[in-house]
Amino acid sequence: MHLTITPSSRVALLRPQAQAGKTPNNLPIKDVHTHPRSSSAGREDASVYFIGNATTVLEWGGFRILTDPNFLHAGDHVHLGPGVTSQRRTNPAVDLDELPPMDCILLSHYHEDHFDQLVEESLNRDFPIITTPHAKGCLTSSSKPEPFRAVHALDFFESILLDAPTNIETETATPVIRVTGMPGKHVPPGTLSALNDLLSAVPPTNGWLLELGWADGSANAQDDENTSSELRTGYRIYISGDTLFVDELREIPKWLNGKHVDLMLVHLGGTTIPGASAPLVMVTMDAKQGIQLIHLIQPDVTIPIHFDDYDVFLSPLSDFQDKIKQEGLKERVVYLNRGDQYRFTVRRNAD
Ligand SMILES: [Zn+2]
Repeated sequence: MHLTITPSSRVALLRPQAQAGKTPNNLPIKDVHTHPRSSSAGREDASVYFIGNATTVLEWGGFRILTDPNFLHAGDHVHLGPGVTSQRRTNPAVDLDELPPMDCILLSHYHEDHFDQLVEESLNRDFPIITTPHAKGCLTSSSKPEPFRAVHALDFFESILLDAPTNIETETATPVIRVTGMPGKHVPPGTLSALNDLLSAVPPTNGWLLELGWADGSANAQDDENTSSELRTGYRIYISGDTLFVDELREIPKWLNGKHVDLMLVHLGGTTIPGASAPLVMVTMDAKQGIQLIHLIQPDVTIPIHFDDYDVFLSPLSDFQDKIKQEGLKERVVYLNRGDQYRFTVRRNAD
């Protein structure tokens, strides 16, 4: 499956009525972080920008990808299922209408702390969204007054290739990004049936594996089957999604088959519903599970996200930081504040 993004096909992120001012060209960057152990001294050509919760922007090779758009402010509420609401404690680093042009959205699952109602109302119906089959069903449902029209569903281990958005081609190769759905489980296995009502409100979630690399010649000219072998990967990013540490995740290293993950964005927070006053069931990883995931995936660098923005997050980042120190992993983790950017280098000599 291909999603071709070219300057002529780049679709506005927002509907005209949701765009207050002019679309800016860049993100407002507070602080820049680079690789914790080695410096490529300003030669970085790619970046991840942390907006808040699981909302980030990945930029490379002319691509700009937005993840899990949630732009509510401190004090706003999200509805996460029957009887489950949560209050936002933080502000996003930018507002939705202050974003520069985007190419597509990666939506891990259809939950309001990842795709809030204001975002849903404001988005251009033709803007490309890559998400789970469940979320595609919701977003394109004819029961919606204005269903979305450019939603691509990926099941676990299914891929879509994002073709070069601009003419930043080198003589021989074109930048491409392959996005593959990774397994995730937002509900604990074997939970009491009494919790079914509550848990049926927790939607299925994907993780993502992003391979940033190069396609020889024109990526457009190749068949789906061929592209997988033609992509020369220069950097791999794994995004966990809102999953618990479950057995299904053990399929990921098997699928990678020895291929190395350069960067992991891990959704932490130990999200516990219905909430802090009645903690009943944890639905995202806490610090301990986050460490288990580092040991399973073995990424070169890990960046925690989704850890303090809502009041249903009961596992503070400090727990994770303590465990990282205890495990001697300090040099393998980068901490971003909202508005910070992590810059990295996509290898030219792909592996
Ligand atoms: Zn979440």
